[in-house]
Amino acid sequence: MNEKYILSKDDKYACLTFTNRVTKTELLEEATVFSEQEARNILRRANRKLEGFIMVQVEFPSAEFYGNENEDVEMMVERKVFSMEMRNNVYEKTKGRCALCGKFVRFDLFTIDHIIPLAKGGTNDIENLQCTCKHCNAMKQDFSEKEFLDKMIKILAYQSKKKENKTYRKKIKKLYKLL
Ligand SMILES: [Zn+2]
Repeated sequence: MNEKYILSKDDKYACLTFTNRVTKTELLEEATVFSEQEARNILRRANRKLEGFIMVQVEFPSAEFYGNENEDVEMMVERKVFSMEMRNNVYEKTKGRCALCGKFVRFDLFTIDHIIPLAKGGTNDIENLQCTCKHCNAMKQDFSEKEFLDKMIKILAYQSKKKENKTYRKKIKKLYKLL
């Protein structure tokens, strides 16, 4: 049940980017770890790009495999592995809208955000996951939602006080009216 695989051909490994695109890497520590089903799906989905790639079962947790004993291996694996089903469920929660800015984001481009970050004790349960666009996710990083919003408000308040940013106040008022 818990077997994990990487996809490999010679000294190349398959790697899913944070926008879920399939790329190749020569660094073993960058190889994405898949469940058996995910590995099969990826091989099918990217059959041209991954021609000749085979599934190689990996033992884990193994600090050696990830090349850095100081890393929290469990956390690295948790960050990397989301099943397609889980991605679907997270996407459906907001019907494809970014939970932070409200913008619609394509399925192949959305990123999964931890509402309470893993580093702060959050889990990989569906309740703690939300669909975000890559920019919002990159800005939020390891902030909780409250910390992130507090920071955004501080930035807006500070910046809109500046003379040269007068138009921002108008923009904000306008946006509020639209909501
Ligand atoms: Zn967004």
